[in-house]
This record gives sequence, structure tokens and C-alpha cells, in this order.
Amino acid sequence: MSSINPHFQFQKAIDPSVEALMDGILHQNLSALSKAITLVESGLPNHRGMANELIDRLLPFTGKSQRIGITGVPGVGKSTFIETFGLKLIEKGHRVAVLAIDPTSSISHGSILGDKTRMNSLATHPNAFIRPTPSGGNLGGVHRKTRESILLCEAFGFDRILVETVGVGQSETAVHHMTDVFLLLLLSGAGDELQGIKRGIMEMADLLVIHKADGENQSKAERAMAEVKSAIRLFPTPPSGWSPQVQTLSSIEQLGFDSLFQQLESYFNHSITQGFFDFNRKEQSISWMKDALGDALFFWLENQPQFHERWKTQEEKVLLQQKSPFSAVSEILQSYLPQ
Ligand code: GDP
Repeated sequence: MSSINPHFQFQKAIDPSVEALMDGILHQNLSALSKAITLVESGLPNHRGMANELIDRLLPFTGKSQRIGITGVPGVGKSTFIETFGLKLIEKGHRVAVLAIDPTSSISHGSILGDKTRMNSLATHPNAFIRPTPSGGNLGGVHRKTRESILLCEAFGFDRILVETVGVGQSETAVHHMTDVFLLLLLSGAGDELQGIKRGIMEMADLLVIHKADGENQSKAERAMAEVKSAIRLFPTPPSGWSPQVQTLSSIEQLGFDSLFQQLESYFNHSITQGFFDFNRKEQSISWMKDALGDALFFWLENQPQFHERWKTQEEKVLLQQKSPFSAVSEILQSYLPQ
């Protein structure tokens, strides 16, 4: 088997035409969805064109989900939470897709979500879809892949999209910019509740959950909740006009989920009736467009003749401090623009 060229296998894996992928997705064929996501993750120029066409044609079927961002430091219990939360959403009749942004995965050459022991029951449920983190490429590219995957999952019929950030401070803003509601999981502990969480991230959260509020931890969690409540009172009102809510929760003991579902319902009622939901989605589309411009430009450049040589030459000059990064980039661009 080792003689098989993995690149060939990859090519073969996304061989179906845009038409076939579209048809498969609209007929809820999971393998078509997986292949379509592989296509949006591909770095090959002809795949990019196919991916754009596929997404354009599927657009009328997208948008009808709640996009829920979930973050928290490693170890806070995100995967345990998502497993319980996801199964409860399914019990309520929803179909759940879980996507993740992990800025470290291109460095570690593997993704945390790729670990099969995570979210086992959810991963094998017929009404759930868990996609490992896209790895490789620049951060902007990783974000684009996740955004496009959201649209593909919506076209398929998933009506709850959970976007998890597995990062430690780099990807929260990106997740905030691609979701409708932002949920921050926190840990209770001896005064270190807010440790490791930047104020900016707390300010983005619509719902703050003190996690692992069970057993001996319960009273600590209550104290942490009071502390967080008083800390966020000093924050400016978010653009949604929603007052962020704080609660305790245990995924293992399954405590606090009723309240979480109520809060989510209140949030969406507020957001929709106040017009924020639509406003935010439109703003996000424009911001995706701006990001896509930068991404497309980079992609185009990367595929120009001698780009890598020219980049290397300029990179050396920057490292030797003979040139600023700005003029190095300008020189590369100039060399491809008509004079
Ligand atoms: P992640 O790194 O944020 O995805 O965290 P994990 O979901 O892998 O959980 C980290 C550890 O916290 C594991 O040992 C879990 O068993 C534990 N954990 C997760 N949720 C809870 C909870 O609700 N209560 C308690 N006591 N432990 C939990």
C-alpha cells in the first residue's frame, strides 16, 4: 500500500464534479460533505475555483443555523462540554456540526480534534458531524476554510454549528467574527478564575460559563460566578445591547444545561428582535470579503512564477535588516504588476 502516492489518493478523494458534490450535500450524503470540505481545504488553484463555484451555488441553502462560538483555555473541558451540549441539542431535534479553529495544528502537524477519543458519542451520532481542524497554511487560510465549512454544513442541513477554538488567545477573535453568539468556558479556582483569559476575550463573550461546577468544586464555582459577574459589570455594553450572562455548569454531572438553553433562547430572541442578528451577519459577510481579498491575493501570488525565489530573496534582506517588511512586500508586488 505504501507505493500509493498519497497525493493521488487525495486527488481521487475529491474527484467528483461540483455538480455531484452539490447534489450529494443537498441529499445529505456525509461523504459528499467531507469531500466538499476537503475541496475547500485544498491549496491547488483548480480546487479553489471549484470550491468557489460550489459555495456560490449552495449559498441559497445556507444561513439557516445558529452559529455558536465556544472558547476556553485547554483543559477547561471544551470537548466534554461540546459532547454533552451537542447530544442535548440532538435530543431537542437539532442536527449538530462541530468545527474547530486551532492555530497550533499547523505547527504540531495534527489536530486536537483529530484525536478520536474526543467526543466519542457525538462523533458517532448520525445527526452530528465533527470535522477535525484544518491544518496547514496561514492563519487567514485556516479561518477561510472554517467559514466555508460553516456554509457547507448549513447547506447540508445542520442547524446548530458549534465553532470551537482550541487555541490559546489567537483565534478567539476569528471565531467571534464568524458566529452569532460567543460562549466562554471558565474554571473556578483559588482566585485564578480570570487567569489566562485576556480581558478582550471576556468582553466578547455573550455567555460566561463557570465549568466543572460539581462535587467539591461547586462552592468555588459559585464564588467564581460572583467574581465574574462583578468584573463584567465594568465592561462596556456590547454592540448587540445584550447584557452578558454568567452561570455555573457541569458537563459530567449534566447540571446547568436547562439554564444555558434558556439563556441561549433569550439571547437569540433579543438579537433577532433588536435587528442585531441580521446586522451582525451582514457585517461578517463584508469582513469575510475583506479577508478573502487578502487571502486571494496571497494565493494568486503564491502561484505566480518565481514567487518563492523572490520571496526568499526579500526575506533574507528583511532578516539582514537591509529592508523593511513593507518595502520587501511592495517590491514583490511591483514585480508582478503591469508597469
Ligand atoms: P479541553 O481541553 O478544554 O477540551 O478539555 P477536556 O474536555 O478534554 O477536559 C479536560 C478535563 O476536565 C478532563 O479530565 C475532563 O474529564 C474534565 N472535565 C470536563 N468537564 C468536566 C466537568 O463538568 N466536571 C469535572 N469535574 N471535570 C470535567
